Amino acid sequence: MLDPNGVSDAVAFLREAQHTAEARFHKLCDEADAMSIQGYLHDGTVVYWNCASEKIYGYSAQEAVGRNLLDLIIPQAAWPEVRASVRQMFETGQGVPAGRLTLQHKDGHLVSVYSSHTVVSLPGHPKVMFCMDADMSELAQAETELRIAATAFESQQGMLITDAQDRILRVNRAFTQSTGYTAEELVGQSPEVLHSGHHEADFFADMWRTLQAQGTWQGEIWHRRKNGEVYTDWATINAVHNPQGEVTHYVHTLTDITQRKQAEAQITRLAFYDALTHLPNRRLLQDRVHQAITARQRHRHCAALLFIDVDDFKGLNDTLGHEMGDLLLQQLAERLQNHVRDSDTAARFGGDKFTVMLDDLTDDLTVAAADAERTARKLLSVLAEPYALREQSYRSAVSIGITLFHGPHASVDELIRQAEMAMYAAKAAGRNKVRFFDVQMQAEVSHRVALVNSLRDGLKQAQLRLFCQPQVSHTGHLIGAEALVRWLHPDKGMVSPAEFIPVAESSGLILPLGIWVLAEACRQLVDWSARFAQSDFTLAVNVSALQFAQPDFVEQVRVVLADTGADPRRLKLELTESMLVSGVDDVIAKMSALQKLGVGFSLDDFGTGYSSLSYLQRLPLNQLKIDQSFVAGLLDDHSSAVIVQTIIALGQSLGLTVIAEGVETEAQRQMLARLGCEAFQGYLLGRPMPIADFEARYLTP
Ligand code: C2E
Ligand code: MG
Ligand code: MG
Repeated sequence: MLDPNGVSDAVAFLREAQHTAEARFHKLCDEADAMSIQGYLHDGTVVYWNCASEKIYGYSAQEAVGRNLLDLIIPQAAWPEVRASVRQMFETGQGVPAGRLTLQHKDGHLVSVYSSHTVVSLPGHPKVMFCMDADMSELAQAETELRIAATAFESQQGMLITDAQDRILRVNRAFTQSTGYTAEELVGQSPEVLHSGHHEADFFADMWRTLQAQGTWQGEIWHRRKNGEVYTDWATINAVHNPQGEVTHYVHTLTDITQRKQAEAQITRLAFYDALTHLPNRRLLQDRVHQAITARQRHRHCAALLFIDVDDFKGLNDTLGHEMGDLLLQQLAERLQNHVRDSDTAARFGGDKFTVMLDDLTDDLTVAAADAERTARKLLSVLAEPYALREQSYRSAVSIGITLFHGPHASVDELIRQAEMAMYAAKAAGRNKVRFFDVQMQAEVSHRVALVNSLRDGLKQAQLRLFCQPQVSHTGHLIGAEALVRWLHPDKGMVSPAEFIPVAESSGLILPLGIWVLAEACRQLVDWSARFAQSDFTLAVNVSALQFAQPDFVEQVRVVLADTGADPRRLKLELTESMLVSGVDDVIAKMSALQKLGVGFSLDDFGTGYSSLSYLQRLPLNQLKIDQSFVAGLLDDHSSAVIVQTIIALGQSLGLTVIAEGVETEAQRQMLARLGCEAFQGYLLGRPMPIADFEARYLTP
């Protein structure tokens, strides 16, 4: 039997328990912190609204209860859909599957929630639908950020993420495309797979030090693609730290700047290097000279600027064409480059003008000058070696001017001007020479300009005269004369050709002057043949290389001969080896054409030039003229004697007569005769003299 008290106790206990459970449940629902719980009737009327709902949706329970779901938290666009699913839930008694919803806060902003639903139906009570919403706004925000980050990660730049141990975790598409590796090949590896071997170990040690100290590093890195190609990346590496300040990752951002660097290099090349020779151009030279001047503030070493000009480059261009001229400049530039030290700068100044800056001479000015001169002489000989222009072997020479600087006070332009002036002095001294700048040089250059002007006037105003110097055979007979021009200057009197011929050559005045001398000599020959019995000797006329190189030179001579009526067999043209610059074939063609007319040829100043035997053999010459320097050295300088002997032997073997010039003493004459020389010219036999004197002394009517 049951104890009635016991039964009532049990009922009371059960009631109590039910009550407690309900209370617990209420408290739980009400106070669930992050979970909004709402209860609705079938028409959407709110019957339950916990505290968290206020947090998420902004309405207090007081505001919400009794109002409609749609008016409270459903964005209007979603009303039809929500109505339909509410209806469905009440009909079926089942909640729709849980999922993400976007609902609306009291202030209008949208709220992302994860929502589950359930329909509770108790006997004797209306059905209630409960919604339980978890706020997902923060998560949604994080997702958005992730999406942005992922898009950013797939940018144009290569990106690489490594962990704290420098193992690759992720790479983006730009990176795999640039390197040629797939993501699978890279993940788990160290970025060292990309190393090109172009950096010293120090480079990476420095990089790590900076990364550790500053958390970031930027710079250029040479990387190697999977196909072996080396390229340049501009890299930024940033360390990622956790809240405890420990490095968890490194983010590498890489931009392939190879093309940009190539473009930069190309621009530099165009701006600072000469396109034809690839040497530094004038601008870069000026910059280097400027640096050198500035450096003199720090140390006392001397520097030198050499100014180099190709002798008769214009002649080459005019006769063989610009293409050959370009070839010569290129080869010359290459030789320059190969024969200066790395610390020196060879540059193309423009046209056929080059410069070399010697940057590191000693601080002793005299020694430095000697060093600079030695370098210049070396260049002189290196640049005089034959050039191969297409199939043609071609010889050229240069003149070099030098200026030294040792203080920080010079200006770039001033130094260049000084070196250039010195170069002109070298040219005036007879080409293929080296000259230094000094203060007097300025005056000399001004003098030169004045000289050209007054020579031009002199030509117009008939101030030129022909002098004649006898040429005598070893038997003592007069065999000819050399016509030597003189300038009878109104103020200065007789000016020597040694002074004005180089100026005439570099100014081009040599052309009208040469024609005048030729015509004058021919007129003289005609005059003599009419007036004197023994007029069967030859008159030698000097022809400058520039004059000979004129395309119509043969025609000029023909016209002069025709106009004057002179006998071509009495005319002998004295050429020098420098005429060979216009190409041996051209020289042979012209000489042969003139030879057909009867004109003879003597090779003047023989032995001082640089023609080779193979050329000589091919030239239709009549005579070799031993240069006076060998005659002067004949008696006391063994090598001169050997050279004279060789020239005589050479002349004999080629069937040419040999004449010695500058014979001043009887001893020289005898020595020359003993060596086999057949003819002599020099003060011993007669000085150059005015025509009237020459006629009076040597010619008999
Ligand atoms: P060159 O053709 O070699 O002429 C010889 C030079 O030596 C002449 O000098 C002459 O006066 C000089 N001389 C002759 N005998 C002796 C001697 O025994 N001892 C010494 N020390 N010198 C002697 P010049 O007349 O002053 O002419 C110098 C140069 O000027 C010539 O050298 C020639 O290259 C050039 N020249 C002279 N006249 C003409 C000309 O009409 N046309 C051209 N293109 N050049 C000319
Ligand atoms: Mg001569
Ligand atoms: Mg001579």
